[in-house]
Amino acid sequence: MAKYTGADCKLCRREGCKLFLKGERCLTKKCAMERRPMAPGVHGAAKKKLTEYGRQLREKQKVKRAYGLQEKQFYKYYEMAENMNGITGENMLSLLERRLDNVVYRMGIGASRAESRQIVNHGHITVNGKTVNIPSYLVKVDDVIAIKENKKELPMFKNLKDVKVIMPKWLEFNAEKLSGKINALPQRDDVDSNLNIQEHLIIELYSK
Ligand code: SF4
Repeated sequence: MAKYTGADCKLCRREGCKLFLKGERCLTKKCAMERRPMAPGVHGAAKKKLTEYGRQLREKQKVKRAYGLQEKQFYKYYEMAENMNGITGENMLSLLERRLDNVVYRMGIGASRAESRQIVNHGHITVNGKTVNIPSYLVKVDDVIAIKENKKELPMFKNLKDVKVIMPKWLEFNAEKLSGKINALPQRDDVDSNLNIQEHLIIELYSK
């Protein structure tokens, strides 16, 4: 019998795509989406045709789970995005990307968004020289994100030089100095392409 790999992997199987919730494991053959790429449960392998509402709901769940948010928090980004100039879906994704836990993940400091959130929660990260332990903090252009001086020697930050990260152009990170910068606000094409997000489905769902 296949080894149980934990609830996180079930979320990926439910959404039918990799949400990269477990760090390095997601890049190995141990990934549950490599071994059992069907929905969990006895009827998981059955192909179901989704209704339009079903597609919208699944897309919303996928993105919400990828960023590790609860419904209330996630909906708040929709409301904020709606009140901004521009395209609501793109605004929403930009806001999600600007969360400090996501930035820590995309800079390669944490192996997953969940781990990055913990790093922020534990007060290991500074923004412009001040400790910020709020994962939902929204970064701004020119913010300097760094690992706190007295935490730099922690084993978890020792090998960041060796971590291979595809750095989005709106961010930079110096793995020697353990410090990075926000060069610009994230645009639509800066959003995590692994997730293949169709944000219009989420907006259609919420604007009903
Ligand atoms: Fe599990 Fe990561 Fe694979 Fe998702 S991508 S199934 S979290 S190992």
